[in-house]
Amino acid sequence: MNITLEQLKSLLNWYAVYQRELPWRNTKNPYDVWLSEIMLQQTRVEAVKEKFKEFKNTLPTITALANTDEDTLRYLWNGLGYYNRCNNLHKCAIVLKNNYNSTLPSTRKELLSLPGIGPYTSGAIASIAFNQPCPAVDGNVLRILARLFNDPSDIKDEKTKKKYEHILETAYVSYKDDLLQHNPNAFRDVSQAFMDLGATVCIPNGQPHCKHCCFQKDCLSHINNTTDTIPFKSKNKKRRIEDRTILLIHDQNYAYIQKRPAKGLLASLYEFVNFDHHASKEEVQQFMQDHHFTITSITKIKDAKHIFSHIEWHMVAYDIEVSQIHLLTHDGKSLDLKEFQEWPMPSAFSIYKTYLCKRLKPIE
Ligand code: SF4
Repeated sequence: MNITLEQLKSLLNWYAVYQRELPWRNTKNPYDVWLSEIMLQQTRVEAVKEKFKEFKNTLPTITALANTDEDTLRYLWNGLGYYNRCNNLHKCAIVLKNNYNSTLPSTRKELLSLPGIGPYTSGAIASIAFNQPCPAVDGNVLRILARLFNDPSDIKDEKTKKKYEHILETAYVSYKDDLLQHNPNAFRDVSQAFMDLGATVCIPNGQPHCKHCCFQKDCLSHINNTTDTIPFKSKNKKRRIEDRTILLIHDQNYAYIQKRPAKGLLASLYEFVNFDHHASKEEVQQFMQDHHFTITSITKIKDAKHIFSHIEWHMVAYDIEVSQIHLLTHDGKSLDLKEFQEWPMPSAFSIYKTYLCKRLKPIE
């Protein structure tokens, strides 16, 4: 298996005509490339577009990102999920500020040593920001190459990823001069070309649009009519089910939330008080009494489910109105309607946040 110079040239030619307009394109600013690549991990392009602009407007430089506080960061990241990425982004900016004069290094080796930057992101930054002959193997590349070679290997297997990385790296290095002569931005463009071809032509769900593909003539999966079965992807392991009871503690005007522990799932984010099992109304009442709240009303409301990558939360919830809120932990917060609406919370709690926003009365 190998990719030819002609195939890489046709991919570059296709990209020159059909590339997508995206807010982080047409810039060689490594910060933009890094930020967009981190935001795009497991998140749709459409969801990232506005968040990227807002993030850049508020924190236009690596120094500004390094100096920002946790709450601003959570606010800017709100809605993108996978908050670990945002914690690592911040940690990485601090390292860049302290050790790299607030710039990103250009070699893959140095990039790989930074927090939150793995093989894919290092390849994407080195190629897109610095025009280095480095592969950036994401789901798009895996799908396109598996089809191009009609390769039945499991694309979730690390070995497949490594194999394609090696194939691309070998090709980029061997054809470096020819590719740069063909297009001085060859390596900057080739990584983005794979992304765009994967997003618009060799798509992840549904039939690929082979008629419009630059690889149509020599794509073995297209020729052998196997695009329904290739790429092969083994099934996910079964998710662990966790039961939760969510307590929506509020008075007429204020909602109560608290900070999660600094380590583990949704680390340092805000949540409603909750138990790690399904609790009865009596148990919830007892908890409230033990914590010196005077309950005005308590109602069991709609159950909900939230799916994380390896865990599923099955939630039951209680609407608990109290005569007056007090804080249960030193980092607990009592927020009025406006503050509560704006306060970033993980999407696992979205359904209950929306519910509670309708229950709270605005302060006159
Ligand atoms: Fe994908 Fe079809 Fe192009 Fe092959 S020819 S890479 S299957 S879109």
